Amino acid sequence: MKTTGYAAYTPDSPLALFQFERRSLRPNDVAMEILYSGVCHSDLHTARNDWGWSYYPIVPGHEIVGRVTAVGAQVSKYQVGDHVAVGCMVDSCMACDQCGRGEEQLCRAGNTGTYAGRDRISGENTQGGYSKHLVVREEFCLRVPAGLDLARAAPLLCAGITTYSPLRTWNVGAGSRVGVIGLGGLGHMAVKLAVGLGAEVTVLSRSTDKEADALALGAHRLLASSDPQAMAQAANAFDLIIDTVPVKHAVDPYLPLLDVDGTLVIVGQVGPMQEMNTVPLLLGRRRIAGSPIGGIRETQEMLDFCAQKNILPDCEMIRMDQINEAFDRMEKADVRYRFVIDMASLAAETA
Ligand code: NAP
Ligand code: ZN
Repeated sequence: MKTTGYAAYTPDSPLALFQFERRSLRPNDVAMEILYSGVCHSDLHTARNDWGWSYYPIVPGHEIVGRVTAVGAQVSKYQVGDHVAVGCMVDSCMACDQCGRGEEQLCRAGNTGTYAGRDRISGENTQGGYSKHLVVREEFCLRVPAGLDLARAAPLLCAGITTYSPLRTWNVGAGSRVGVIGLGGLGHMAVKLAVGLGAEVTVLSRSTDKEADALALGAHRLLASSDPQAMAQAANAFDLIIDTVPVKHAVDPYLPLLDVDGTLVIVGQVGPMQEMNTVPLLLGRRRIAGSPIGGIRETQEMLDFCAQKNILPDCEMIRMDQINEAFDRMEKADVRYRFVIDMASLAAETA
């Protein structure tokens, strides 16, 4: 099937229109018309080839909500007209122990990315959600719970699950003390989800500029990491800190904030970090961990949790042709708190 999207053609040119093919339906495939696509900082990293594994042209987008337009002969869970969602992966080996546990993101053979991946059957490059249509195997589709706002549900598929998964892994619940570094797309979802799970939540932002926002999102306080006195007063104050900073940075200022056996989980920077002093790590028996997205079962659990608790991201709707401006603003942390592309704008643009 011919489709249209927006692709990066080189690491340093703006995204532009791109015509390409979506595969014909396999028996276990679902075809969808994409309605909304969230804009993740990983889309920007990938367009710019910050991680070194991009190909060109590449269509970003892995926070996808759509409507089913056709299903393969063996598809049993979805019907034409259903509202479905797709996140950061579209396939995995489905045979290893991790896939067996529903942790396809940790597939021993590597999961297949929604973009920057390679189709396991045809070997073709995968292309993401900044496009009109998508074809995905049934097992990697999620059901959008009835009543959940479709546009605002989109960012849950990456920003939501990437922060929900560590909250669940580290058993966050009533009384847990959670810190969130960086109030952006992931950070603001971490706040809402941790509050929803009953935690006491502190935003660790570079300045106090976002203090009113942090409180409005449900956080109990905002602490400016640029204020050494406030940081010193917060020593030993957290069980879990989720670090969403999208660039190389130092963890040294944050480690003393963890209580004994507390964990700083890195979900932001993918790649080298600044040199670290191990003293607070060893003396406080503190931990540093990482976490990638989440499995399909946990993603569905998160969607259902959000529907039940009415947890949704704060979004700014944009047209497809505003994506380059949105990337520029995201780089300056000028987004409150997730851009979502109304894909009908692309249909109108190419009509
Ligand atoms: P975002 O919306 O741009 O938010 C990042 C936040 O980090 C900003 O709002 C800002 O918060 C802070 N920040 C930005 N630049 C900074 C700098 N130079 N130094 C310190 N803090 C800075 O990005 P996002 O979409 O949340 O994504 C965050 C990172 O997570 C990206 O690197 C993305 O690739 C990664 N990611 C990882 C996974 C995973 O599976 N682990 C999944 C999705 C995304 P303040 O203004 O409050 O300081
Ligand atoms: Zn993402």
